Amino acid sequence: MTKKQNILIIGAGLCGSLLALRMAQRGYNVQLVEKRPDLRKQHQDAGRSINLALSDRGLKGLRLAGVEELAKELCIPMLGRMIHDTEGTTFLSKYSGRKDEFINSISRPGLNMLLLDEAEKMPNVEIIFNKGCKSVNLENASATFKDYTTDEEVTYRGDVVLGTDGAGSVVRKNMFNHKKFLFSFSQEWLTHGYKEITIPAAEGGGYRTDKGALHIWPRGEDMLIALPNLDGSFTVTLFLPYSNSDYCFDTLTTPEMVTEYFSKEYPDAVALMPNLVEEFFDNPTGPLGTIKCSPWNSYGKTLLLGDAAHAIVPFYGQGMNASFEDVVVFDEILNDFEGKEDWQKVFYEYEKARKKDTDAIADLAVDNFHEMKEHTASPLFQQKRKLETAFEAEFPQEYYSKYSLVTFKEAITYSEALKKGRAQDKAILNLIADGKITEVMSLREKLELVQKETNAIMHDDEIAFG
Ligand SMILES: Cc1cc2nc3c(=O)[nH]c(=O)nc-3n(C[C@H](O)[C@H](O)[C@H](O)COP(=O)(O)OP(=O)(O)OC[C@H]3O[C@@H](n4cnc5c(N)ncnc54)[C@H](O)[C@@H]3O)c2cc1C
Repeated sequence: MTKKQNILIIGAGLCGSLLALRMAQRGYNVQLVEKRPDLRKQHQDAGRSINLALSDRGLKGLRLAGVEELAKELCIPMLGRMIHDTEGTTFLSKYSGRKDEFINSISRPGLNMLLLDEAEKMPNVEIIFNKGCKSVNLENASATFKDYTTDEEVTYRGDVVLGTDGAGSVVRKNMFNHKKFLFSFSQEWLTHGYKEITIPAAEGGGYRTDKGALHIWPRGEDMLIALPNLDGSFTVTLFLPYSNSDYCFDTLTTPEMVTEYFSKEYPDAVALMPNLVEEFFDNPTGPLGTIKCSPWNSYGKTLLLGDAAHAIVPFYGQGMNASFEDVVVFDEILNDFEGKEDWQKVFYEYEKARKKDTDAIADLAVDNFHEMKEHTASPLFQQKRKLETAFEAEFPQEYYSKYSLVTFKEAITYSEALKKGRAQDKAILNLIADGKITEVMSLREKLELVQKETNAIMHDDEIAFG
């Protein structure tokens, strides 16, 4: 590929800004256009996904662009899930039996600002704010934007357009409406929405609860989670049905109802959220959905990446991680085509390599929605987790739980993690439920039994699904 080519990237969120940095490092001229004002100059996003869980796949993307260490300065390690029951009793369920495996809480605006700063340092990157993409000419790689400061329209053109404008992507909508090629699209909403609330820092600084964990209050249908921030606060997210339940967004319409619901379900959390009622009504309620589409590319001129191509529900903490992994996979494909001028082939090969994996993480994320809100508190699930962490601690090279395969083992793909992880889960749960794992067995014997059962299930699945 000729390195002086111009790449027009639409959307300077997490994926777009990392992609801009990496494409510039590869020698391309990059124009990165963002509809919102520069978040380094204007505070935004109150009440919307303020912090995120960053794990190994995301770190790999940051490493590729040489910014992993800078990002780590913004990270707070979370070693496991701190489960809170209705009595306020807590216990820590570790993410892994291996000591060096944990996830990190990181500020979304903090990370986005870091990536913008690093991209902007490159002489071949131009970042343009306050211009929202209105339409894309898919056949000639140009896009028209509305300038929100002047109200005027402006058109930018590249050799290719990379659409990283998030779940509501205008680039993707242009493909959907284009009609000259077959474009498949699906969007599935969960019955639940989310709302963010704050646990402020303790008076005089410090954290009001353990900062080294992702806190969960699983309640069957509903759930509260909390992730720590560097300033001593926690961002709490409530996941609640919109309707058809005694307590849902449709019924929590008065301060009394909100207080009643939280005091009943999350008494220990209420004590930590002095501004609960005010924030509940001030902060927006966000929907949660899965978007799948194909093809991601049109005419070898435009390509979708990140949430624009594959938005997922947040229950595996993998949306951003997957978007950063997109950049890694795209970069690998570019390596294969070094010196050859063929974007059509690059885009095609990229989707061929990547789509099955983003489909897999989308499905895994929905699985984890049910696991987190319903199963994390169940004795059977806890027995399974205990056994898995024991396997990981004792046989670190031989056993990876589904969670570890997805979160910590970036050398294998999401689709492989799904296949093996689901079979393993089924195997362990069946063996425990059938009483086949007994106290008299050694840990090695238990591991061998689980491996044997897992292989049998994977074999059966292969026969059934080809
Ligand atoms: C509640 C919640 C919690 C989450 N938690 C996690 C987590 O713990 N871990 C994790 O890995 N992921 C998490 N995610 C997912 C993560 O937020 C996304 O996967 C990630 O932000 C995707 O990055 P992106 O750059 O593709 O999209 P975005 O971050 O949405 O960025 C898109 C950018 O494009 C801009 N844009 C939009 N339209 C236009 C336009 N027309 N013209 C120009 N610019 C435009 C937007 O302003 C934005 O800056 C969570 C998501 C939610 C909703």
